[in-house]
Amino acid sequence: MSGVAPSAAVRAGTLYVVATPIGNLGDLSPRARDVLAAVDLVAAEDTRHAGQLLTTLGIAKPLVSLHEHNEEARVEGIVAALAGGRAVALVSDAGTPLISDPGYRLLAAVRAASLDVSPVPGPCAAIALLSVAGLPTDHFRFEGFLPARREARRERLAALARSPATLVFHESVHRIGEWLEDAGEAFGADRPAAVGRELTKLHETIYRASLGELRESVTADPSRVRGEYTIAVAGAPDEAAGDAELARVVGILAAELPASQAAGLAARLTGRPRRDAYALAIRARGTD
Ligand code: SAM
Repeated sequence: MSGVAPSAAVRAGTLYVVATPIGNLGDLSPRARDVLAAVDLVAAEDTRHAGQLLTTLGIAKPLVSLHEHNEEARVEGIVAALAGGRAVALVSDAGTPLISDPGYRLLAAVRAASLDVSPVPGPCAAIALLSVAGLPTDHFRFEGFLPARREARRERLAALARSPATLVFHESVHRIGEWLEDAGEAFGADRPAAVGRELTKLHETIYRASLGELRESVTADPSRVRGEYTIAVAGAPDEAAGDAELARVVGILAAELPASQAAGLAARLTGRPRRDAYALAIRARGTD
């Protein structure tokens, strides 16, 4: 740690949470570079990895490791450095720290100590995929990695099946086929989704289709044996709007047709379950 006052790019006693590329060095922002060059210390998920990035940028900086297994122990020292007026940058291996990456415990301690923080925003695989998926983005829910064990993963997917927000997940290359199969079962094979493979890298591939079709195309692609994957799945259709539409259509048809026929046609027109249409048609006609 140098005792030199931080340069104009950073403020003393501030923790900078710095996003780094998810595979394309060109995505590192000029400000990220300036902040990394100006801080006194860089806390990194993997010091070797961060060291390589800094070397590429021509920056030499003291590094301290901060990962899942040592975060608790490292927090105190980093907070003390900040309290002593040092400027510190937090980086993860790729993308935005704390997003499926370490840093939460440090930020909680920094918050408890009322120390200053500043984001240096940039690459994030989840946001990168959402920006190109063509799925609703007014509400989205980041779920990150689901459990690796299949049974636990299926339970989590089932619990998410009625979520109206677009869902975003990470998954490893080894499980992507199985993951898409399980998601198709939980959400329905026709649910719109998108898979981003190797985003921003040379072999970037963006698949946009239903979960059923995605499973076919991703597993048929020989290149799937390598790479990093992020998945977005459209939220569940709006049940309330669907119910209102079904009631409207059944109301019109049941005035002219027997309940069973009205129900069959209404179900086909709205894509809603026939049994729901039939219950509404019986009520509309009184008898039948
Ligand atoms: N903090 C990171 C971010 O902001 O994107 C996410 C870190 S998480 C540990 C790593 C996972 O992100 C990978 O397993 C993969 O699911 C996803 N990921 C990272 N880079 C990616 C890329 N270039 N394309 C697609 N997914 C990527």
